[in-house]
Amino acid sequence: MNHLEIVDPAFRKLVHEDRPLQKLASGSLWAEGPAWIPGQQCVVWSDTRSNRMWRWSEADGQTVFREPSNNSNGNTVDRQGRLVTCEHRTHRVSRTEPDGTVVALVDAYKGRKLNSPNDVVVKSDGTVWFTDPPYGIETSREGVQRPSELDGNYVFRFDPATNDLRIVANDFDRPNGLAFSPDESVLYIADTGAPKHMRALDVSPDGTLSNSRVFAKVDPPASDGFRVDTEGNVWSSAGNGVHVLSPEGTLLGKILVPERTANCCFGGPSKQTLFITASTSLYSVEVAATGV
Ligand code: MG
Repeated sequence: MNHLEIVDPAFRKLVHEDRPLQKLASGSLWAEGPAWIPGQQCVVWSDTRSNRMWRWSEADGQTVFREPSNNSNGNTVDRQGRLVTCEHRTHRVSRTEPDGTVVALVDAYKGRKLNSPNDVVVKSDGTVWFTDPPYGIETSREGVQRPSELDGNYVFRFDPATNDLRIVANDFDRPNGLAFSPDESVLYIADTGAPKHMRALDVSPDGTLSNSRVFAKVDPPASDGFRVDTEGNVWSSAGNGVHVLSPEGTLLGKILVPERTANCCFGGPSKQTLFITASTSLYSVEVAATGV
């Protein structure tokens, strides 16, 4: 199909060359943060600028999931199937309980408001890792314009069991998307500030990071949000779609999307559907790879 650009022959094993890219939903101003909720067989995503979250399922199509959404951005699902959401307006990471109640997990570091949590991932031990760039406090377009109360844009690790919040990376300009390798020995973090690249860092059992190195730089930029498949390949947003990188950072191929792409996630019954948020729309494509 003409939405596929095969750079390395290995890419052919990860995609279906006869499956189309489908537009499932539209009407967003800046679609971000897709997450598949297995218990509901649906994908939810944020329209950060419209202060709304959308939901799409095979059965119901596109419906409003939450409005207002506190200018939500990145979403993920924890091991219990609960939705975990970054919120700009309330400078917090929240969790949606099975009964639909939304609870705050964390909104401050040492008594100071977080900036505007952008993207989040939950490790198998239940800890919540998230990035906190200032996009949601710089203008009122995506949140609330106000000065930062922190002295940097950090990557945080939060433990809901102990309420312990700690900085795990302090040398990013604007940390953004993040994802663990399948065995959680590596954490990938995008920097959408000046470097516009993606770094890989080793994860120690005690939850610290080390050996920070540049992993890849997509062209056109940028790696905003991304997900990892079971083989360790990284499926990253780029200016023109989703670029797929090997665990070594080699570009394998591209899924070209007709809108500027912000993020993606695996979903569907077998985690072999890639959902893509791109500017105004939600797209999907069936792939041969399986999401973690
Ligand atoms: Mg992001």
